[in-house]
Amino acid sequence: MELRRPSNADEAAAALGNGSVALAGGTEVVPLMREGLLRAETLVQITDAVPRGISGTRIGAGTTLAELEVDPQVPQALREACSLAASPQLRSMGTVGGNLLQATRCWYWRLGFDCWLHGGERCFAKDGAHREHAIFGNDLCASAHPSDVAAALLALGATLRTTRRELPLAELYRLPTADDRSTTTLAPDELILELDVPEPGASTYLKAMDRRKWAFPLVGAAAARTDGGIRIALAGVAPIPWTLDGAAALDDATPLPGTAYKVEIARALVRRALAQVDESPRSS
Ligand SMILES: Cc1cc2nc3c(=O)[nH]c(=O)nc-3n(C[C@H](O)[C@H](O)[C@H](O)COP(=O)(O)OP(=O)(O)OC[C@H]3O[C@@H](n4cnc5c(N)ncnc54)[C@H](O)[C@@H]3O)c2cc1C
Ligand code: SF4
Repeated sequence: MELRRPSNADEAAAALGNGSVALAGGTEVVPLMREGLLRAETLVQITDAVPRGISGTRIGAGTTLAELEVDPQVPQALREACSLAASPQLRSMGTVGGNLLQATRCWYWRLGFDCWLHGGERCFAKDGAHREHAIFGNDLCASAHPSDVAAALLALGATLRTTRRELPLAELYRLPTADDRSTTTLAPDELILELDVPEPGASTYLKAMDRRKWAFPLVGAAAARTDGGIRIALAGVAPIPWTLDGAAALDDATPLPGTAYKVEIARALVRRALAQVDESPRSS
């Protein structure tokens, strides 16, 4: 296998595609390669090609979660989402760009079952073990997107700059369809370079998990208040990070038998998150 280390974004984008894979902190790429779920003849180390650091509302895609969680320029919801994610060691390696693109934690998928998302005929989780799975968008694949960070950024109304375009974060994601089973709209040779995260009036991120620390979200709820109203987004409830059109939209959830409890958790978290951003003073 070849390892390339381009020094700028254009060179990195040119080196991608044709089966090569971008490598940032490697906390997702390395385990996936070890398990044979990701194959690459060339790894393109993007550390020198992608911006890193925080300047006002701009965040380089190479910024680590550990850097984000302590920076006072970063809105509270994003700081909280980062500090509640993974372990300190993973947060000091894992970048925000890589976090947005992490794959599902569905064990059928991670164990290499020939399930629908892997190109097979059926979703094993729907008839099998699915306690951690989705309550929305789960028609074909019932996986639950594991990114706390993406839910916070969705609620905050973040936009992305890539090597090809600028887009709202919501447009980075798509529900997989029979024709295209990918969950993002990113091209194989496209890199996320930077995020723009507008400062909210107030924001928060709340997370329910099986352990008090270092666990993926069963449900994560982010809320951000802006002049345009309050935006809510959820983690752990759909194959992609999920924007919720108000608390009442939880009535439209389509839980599986084993995930109905998540609707009630989401209701409680959303209620608390809304109360927090309603009461918070401006500037957090
Ligand atoms: C045990 C464990 C627990 C975890 N718990 C949580 C949790 O509770 N909450 C949570 O939100 N996350 C959690 N994570 C996920 C973790 O935060 C991510 O693995 C990490 O942020 C990924 O960043 P990275 O830089 O290591 O990405 P990499 O592993 O380097 O890359 C991940 C993916 O993104 C692509 N990529 C990376 N950067 C870019 C870019 N700039 N442009 C285009 N493509 C890019 C890579 O090609 C790859 O497909 C956990 C991970 C582990 C292993
Ligand atoms: S939930 Fe998705 S990833 Fe998991 S078994 Fe079903 S199709 Fe595969």
